[in-house]
Amino acid sequence: EPVIVPRKKHKISRQQIDKSALDVLYGLKRAKYDSYLVGGCVRDLLLGLEPKDFDVVTNAEPDQVKSVFKQRCRLIGRRFRLAHVRFGRMVIEVATFRGQGDGDGRKDRFGHKGRVSGPARQVDDSGRLLRDNVYGSIDEDVWRRDFTVNALYYNIKDFSIIDYAGGLKDIKKGQLRLIGDPVTRYQEDPVRLIRAIRFAAKLGFSIEKHTEKPIKKLAPSLRDVSNARMFEEVLKLFHSGVAIQVFEKLRHYHLFEHLFPLTEQALSVQQDDFPRMMVIEALKSTDARIRQGKTVNPSFLFAAMLWYPMLERKQYFMDEGFTHQDALYAAANDVIEQQVHRTAIPKRFTAQIRDIWNLQYRLPKRHGERAQKLNEHPRFRAAYDFLGVRVAAGETDMAEIFDWWTTYQEKDPVEQVAFANAVD
Ligand code: ATP
Ligand code: MG
Repeated sequence: EPVIVPRKKHKISRQQIDKSALDVLYGLKRAKYDSYLVGGCVRDLLLGLEPKDFDVVTNAEPDQVKSVFKQRCRLIGRRFRLAHVRFGRMVIEVATFRGQGDGDGRKDRFGHKGRVSGPARQVDDSGRLLRDNVYGSIDEDVWRRDFTVNALYYNIKDFSIIDYAGGLKDIKKGQLRLIGDPVTRYQEDPVRLIRAIRFAAKLGFSIEKHTEKPIKKLAPSLRDVSNARMFEEVLKLFHSGVAIQVFEKLRHYHLFEHLFPLTEQALSVQQDDFPRMMVIEALKSTDARIRQGKTVNPSFLFAAMLWYPMLERKQYFMDEGFTHQDALYAAANDVIEQQVHRTAIPKRFTAQIRDIWNLQYRLPKRHGERAQKLNEHPRFRAAYDFLGVRVAAGETDMAEIFDWWTTYQEKDPVEQVAFANAVD
């Protein structure tokens, strides 16, 4: 039986809820459906944090959500069929309650129309959930969620909070606890291993001991997750604003090596501290940018993670007699190609990673017109920041060049010409 906390006994007010999310909740309610806020937004509001997004869950099936919101609504996803409802620039994700179906190959209740066909729920040999489109009710849906603190529902009907899994207690305790048997839940979806890390770091929560215990041993199961999904998860991990804590925890639980195997190798050899400091400084700068509300670029993260692996590979090609340019090109190819096995990096980002690396060797050559040309390069700013990270990480021989570019950018265009001409 759930604990139901009435409106006057909790502090979530409608003022704190995004206007578009309220529109979706009320839209469904007007159409006589049940609708709730669920997941991270309820958790964050209770903790006094600002939610990143607002997820809605309802007993309306995707097609019914579509009929309520018409052209505002788009149905997406195969593994998890969802509705996206758009209000202005805001997209609210609307999920239908997941049920307890037994995975016997039943079709979706709405009749496997559109892109969804085959069994509604599908599990592979290792217990991994491949597809989950069996619909149910709130008291079935709750057990399919990951952590108790992510399984709290805010009911738009009476503004109460519904807690089936003990999430409120865990919020008070500041702990993450998986719902159900942890090993089974990790096997169903190994991404939960890294979600545990992300939430522990972000919320400053401890990981409850039964939830914590299997993590190291199950870490290799991350290899079964598609590289496309891993890319998305890696970005969530390192663009969380607490990337340093995330990094330390991932290493502690032996998860990091499955995200960035080449980086882990460079770190564990540890002949000097540069590889580690490079990662730390890059993450520091990422965290700072996120705190300031600035944008962050995935290519910067990957360029930094792979910098030492790339340099090592480059040295190998130089020893083989390659020119500097050819060695750089070949090393970048190899290192990116290997990383893509773990995290599929979209083409536009791999091009940017190469640009950032190439520019590291061009930034010292700044005499005369070269300076202006470099300054106009679309990747100049990222390359300059990257150079700053290298210096902070201990590459002190680059400090003079970094400082020069810092001064250059502070000057007006006329002064810049004179400044660049004065370089010998
Ligand atoms: P964030 O602050 O990052 O948005 P969140 O908890 O809202 O955190 P989402 O990825 O937005 O996380 O997912 C919304 C909700 O869906 C979660 O709170 C959880 O209840 C459920 N969920 C998401 N991913 C999983 C998963 N892999 N396994 C089980 N439940 C999940
Ligand atoms: Mg969310």
